[in-house]
Amino acid sequence: MKRSNISVFVPHLGCPHNCSFCDQKAISGHSGVPTAEEIGLAVAAAVSSGRLDAANSEIAFFGGSFTAIDRSLMVSLLSSGYEQVKRHRLHGIRISTRPDAIDEEILEILLRFGVTSIELGAQSMDDEVLRLNMRGHTAQDVVNASKMIRERGISLGLQMMTGLYGSTAEKDKKTAERLAELYPDTMRIYPTVVMKNTYLAQKLESGEYLPMELDESVGLCAWLLDFFEQRNIDVIRLGLHSEESMMENRLGGSYHPAFRELCESKRYFDRALTALKNAGITGGKVAVSVNPRAVSQMTGQKKQNVTALRELGYECVIRADDRLAMNRVEAARVQIDSTGPTGGLRRQTERGNRT
Ligand code: SF4
Repeated sequence: MKRSNISVFVPHLGCPHNCSFCDQKAISGHSGVPTAEEIGLAVAAAVSSGRLDAANSEIAFFGGSFTAIDRSLMVSLLSSGYEQVKRHRLHGIRISTRPDAIDEEILEILLRFGVTSIELGAQSMDDEVLRLNMRGHTAQDVVNASKMIRERGISLGLQMMTGLYGSTAEKDKKTAERLAELYPDTMRIYPTVVMKNTYLAQKLESGEYLPMELDESVGLCAWLLDFFEQRNIDVIRLGLHSEESMMENRLGGSYHPAFRELCESKRYFDRALTALKNAGITGGKVAVSVNPRAVSQMTGQKKQNVTALRELGYECVIRADDRLAMNRVEAARVQIDSTGPTGGLRRQTERGNRT
């Protein structure tokens, strides 16, 4: 079930690590510790908007490693959050943290204060990639924490990064496979963005790290979306939010304000190619049909899919067909028929294969 979040940012508080990519203050765009009053105001604003389904909403403490902050501060934030959960009959509290900052004692506390979902920043399941990016935990920590969370009946979210220093598309796909084996309820995928004042910035400057190009990143993440969708794992976020401070501090890496849209378009492009291939159509005038809600994704930003198909020899029209499921694509040849009953030119389409 999809839940909505009332986000409360917890900054880079007391985190003893210095991950290669992290400039937490710039990424979250916030620098202060939220007070009980601010938490109450954030919830009140969300509730009074009238758009909130309270029973399906969680207060989400995002931005830092929640269970690694000072214990009394963590309990005080949880206590303020839980008060709001009970007052407004919300579903619960969502937190994000590091895999090595979860143990049975912490889970006891989290459960006592109404935590219903935990997201773990796994980032990679390759120990060498984790080491190179100074994560300070291993892949086994991700496995152990995930198991403990699931055994407690808490919803598990996992976060992974693509294109980290020392990683490759193949390693990132392997990470996805290992994470899927942990049965997460949700996934977030973040292509690596290089921020000022980070270790990655130094590696970029020295030429030791070349971030993945946007095109390659889009291709990889389109593959990851397919991969998780086929396993009924909901990818609730793909790509970083465009916070002003992030934009100011970004030096490189795979960022685009509509990154997920690019990936969705790439998936439709690949599906169209498969449908054309299955229909035995190698070029010429073609009609590609999709669900009406998928027309813009099939077309692509600035008609890029239509242009790319033209470069492959297809003169393509895109048609909306409400009989088609969202991820289905049909391809058919468009023919010019001069022998029809009217004796005039008549356009016909032959039903092609779906993919
Ligand atoms: S553990 Fe999280 S907060 Fe700490 S440095 Fe790494 S990414 Fe930043």
